[in-house]
Amino acid sequence: MARTADVEVLIVGAGPVGLMLTCLLRRRGISCAVVDRRTGIDLRPRAITLHRTAIDLFAGLGLLEALLRVSIPMDRISFHAQDGREFVGRLAGQGGIVDGYLNTLQPSYQALLLEEARRLGAEVRLGAEVVGLAPSEHSVRAFLGSPRGGQIMDAAFAVAADGATSTVRRLLNVEMEGKGPTRSYVLLEGDPVLAPPEGETGLYVGDAGMVTLAPLPAGKVRIAGPADEGLRIERGDEISAASAAALIDRLGFGQRLLLARADRVTHYTVRQQVASRFDHGRVLLAGDAAHLNAPAGGQGVNLGFGDAEALAWRIEAALGAYDAGLFGSYDDEQRHLAASTIEQADVFPIVQAIREHSTLSDRHAQALLDQRAIAWTQHRAAA
Ligand SMILES: Cc1cc2nc3c(=O)[nH]c(=O)nc-3n(C[C@H](O)[C@H](O)[C@H](O)COP(=O)(O)OP(=O)(O)OC[C@H]3O[C@@H](n4cnc5c(N)ncnc54)[C@H](O)[C@@H]3O)c2cc1C
Repeated sequence: MARTADVEVLIVGAGPVGLMLTCLLRRRGISCAVVDRRTGIDLRPRAITLHRTAIDLFAGLGLLEALLRVSIPMDRISFHAQDGREFVGRLAGQGGIVDGYLNTLQPSYQALLLEEARRLGAEVRLGAEVVGLAPSEHSVRAFLGSPRGGQIMDAAFAVAADGATSTVRRLLNVEMEGKGPTRSYVLLEGDPVLAPPEGETGLYVGDAGMVTLAPLPAGKVRIAGPADEGLRIERGDEISAASAAALIDRLGFGQRLLLARADRVTHYTVRQQVASRFDHGRVLLAGDAAHLNAPAGGQGVNLGFGDAEALAWRIEAALGAYDAGLFGSYDDEQRHLAASTIEQADVFPIVQAIREHSTLSDRHAQALLDQRAIAWTQHRAAA
């Protein structure tokens, strides 16, 4: 098996989290390779909301202007009941570079990070899959499979940013703890029949669950839902735009949640799980490989960017003088943050609050929703 040049850090997975970490490490002058079994960026609809942690990190990399070009600014989350009652959680005035949050498409910001990783001199290897891992006291050896044949790569540290079905996590026998799979969501993206208010993500609560309506760049929208306890769609199942729209329509919000034309349709099933440990000697877990949450508030990728930030300075310090405690504190901080984010992302307290609002004073309901909207977008502060 051919040997490649050694690197200080091997990052498994060129998703948003792996690429962000690659850029942060290169900015610190650390040699790194990022490998991904895909040959290009995943174009399926996925994470669309970037919060303060993420925006700060893009800005720190000098990518703020480029990010703003592919995003739209958002400053409100509205909550709608079937009987017409509405509440608005306002996010402006919370500080930060952007006064609120950004909606954008995952392939757009992932492309920015990929280009930046290359520009900063990282070794980016697409179409190469990590199939084996041999960690030792002083290094980690990875076995890569690719159409060009097998290769061995040695690194001082390896980071598993290889997503929800992480191979590295499986190779290390790390358990995921928590709930799931539970309910399924359908996602539709396209042109709305009625344009939603600018700057506002809407959450529509009906008897059959909750649907999110999120504006996207170029006048498009994302409709995701229903957060319905009864709905389960298995991985690999196909779903048509018509059947996805029919599921959304069950909530009874009519044209407000209707697309004139669907560009893309997909589905996924929620898991609310955290890895039993994030640090395994010289192998660290980050992003979806470490934690999975429900989609409310669009927190998954933001939490993963926080992992990248928390790892970059620790890896730099550990390359100077290895100290297992550095990564013990990474595990402690980020695992607890993931657990609290999972709790915050559970939509059912919100659904309940809106359904039971008649038993609460308006002010109480408004305060609850404001607080939840802010917690969703500021999960560093909510830790
Ligand atoms: C349908 C869908 C909709 C979503 N919507 C939202 C949303 O609205 N908001 C939100 O915050 N989050 C959403 N998410 C979750 C969000 O996309 C993830 O949190 C985010 O992509 C995590 O980034 P990551 O880099 O950790 O992992 P990923 O993006 O999954 O990247 C992992 C990478 O690792 C690669 N890989 C895997 N195994 C190997 C291997 N053995 N060797 C080499 N490479 C490997 C994969 O090819 C992949 O490119 C959604 C997810 C899905 C599936």
